[in-house]
Amino acid sequence: MVLDNLGSSLRGTLETLQGKTRLSEEDVEAVVREIQRSLLQADVDVSLVMELSDSIKTRALKEEPPGGTSARDHVLKIVYEEMVAIVGESTEIPLEPQTILLAGLQGSGKTTSAAKMAWWFSKKGLRPAVIQTDTFRPGAYDQAKQMCERAEVEFYGDPDESDPVTIAREGLEATEDADVHIVDTAGRHGLEDELIAEIEEIEGLVSPDLSLLVFDAAIGQGAKEQARQFEEAIGIDGVMITKLDGTAKGGGALTAVNETDSSIAFLGTGETVQDIERFEPNGFISRLLGMGDLKQLSERVERAMSETQAEDEDWDPEDIMKGSFTLKDMQKQMEAMNKMGPLDQIMDMIPGLGGGLMDQLPDDAMDVTQNRMRSFEIIMDSMTEGEMENPRGVGASQVRRISRGSGQDEETVRELLEQHKMMEQTLKQFQGMGDGDMQRMMKKMEQ
Ligand code: GDP
Repeated sequence: MVLDNLGSSLRGTLETLQGKTRLSEEDVEAVVREIQRSLLQADVDVSLVMELSDSIKTRALKEEPPGGTSARDHVLKIVYEEMVAIVGESTEIPLEPQTILLAGLQGSGKTTSAAKMAWWFSKKGLRPAVIQTDTFRPGAYDQAKQMCERAEVEFYGDPDESDPVTIAREGLEATEDADVHIVDTAGRHGLEDELIAEIEEIEGLVSPDLSLLVFDAAIGQGAKEQARQFEEAIGIDGVMITKLDGTAKGGGALTAVNETDSSIAFLGTGETVQDIERFEPNGFISRLLGMGDLKQLSERVERAMSETQAEDEDWDPEDIMKGSFTLKDMQKQMEAMNKMGPLDQIMDMIPGLGGGLMDQLPDDAMDVTQNRMRSFEIIMDSMTEGEMENPRGVGASQVRRISRGSGQDEETVRELLEQHKMMEQTLKQFQGMGDGDMQRMMKKMEQ
């Protein structure tokens, strides 16, 4: 994750402020030094680092913590607000018909991002089409086509045509029924004049409503210059930062966004078409600082739940809140969990668990959990309909049979039944609540 170190090193420094109500100059210096170190390590431009640390220092010393606020929370709030100010608001993306042009260097993730964006728009109820004009990179056509098939969105490309401008023109005609047109362009290794001339010509033809620059999070200081040149050629409205799931430092991209006065539109967090997130400054910085990001989490949960529901029309998550909780319900929940992505990524988004706890867990702890879930799935496949509906009635001889049938030991079968019992009891507590209580609880969680 971008600037990952910032979160953990900052948390460490902030711990030393625990219990204090006033900040000394040395305290502030120590926090600021930690921030500077992390930002510089993450390739953020030096002048930007200085600007940021100066404003944090000034504010932390000048502003009085509001009554009842600890020094630690006061600093954290200032750091948070100043970081949010740097990344800025996210690029506005109206949910309406439009044309989006993608620019960027080869390998930045443009082609992948085009399909991801199309998938994102399709989930919002629009009808997107991807037009692939990259005639430079062998394989771009096939890759784009495959990804669009996976995203179940319309695709246009022409492997026999060598002129990208012609493809763009014919693509717009061929996909005129679509309402969002995403035009992918060729990238090069560097910013040759030829690439700039070509993208200017395509820009002139498609007159995009939005031109987005796609950046690999690993881009270092070169990001600044690159962004400036694309900005001059076509005007950049926003950026998509890709490969944030990797070990990239990401600071270069932040610098570029700040330099060109553009904003971040989307984040790419993996290789599949679903691995796209709308950029949310508050959530992004919260996550960076290890404060969790409930909004993203609840979006993912909602999406996974509705997908699971779509696959099985008889199953409605709402029913769990009303009636009994069977093993079938638990199975569906686990399927939904799997759709949300790797557990460690999800845990990172939960406040309080983000970073801090993850750092303390042994590396394989998540693996164990995921392996356990897989064993549970295999076990449930060996159970009868009746046992799934009424797991409390499963006796010792049935446990033996299920264990033999699934190839899992009896202990794991019993663990599954135990887990179900625990979840059922927890849910019972919620079932007594009225809708109002539920909403109040959700509100509380969002704070
Ligand atoms: P293009 O040359 O700019 O069109 O780049 P591609 O879309 O072909 O992406 C280059 C490589 O980066 C491919 O192997 C992609 O699978 C990979 N990639 C793109 N976006 C992401 C991302 O968000 N996360 C990860 N892990 N890989 C990505």
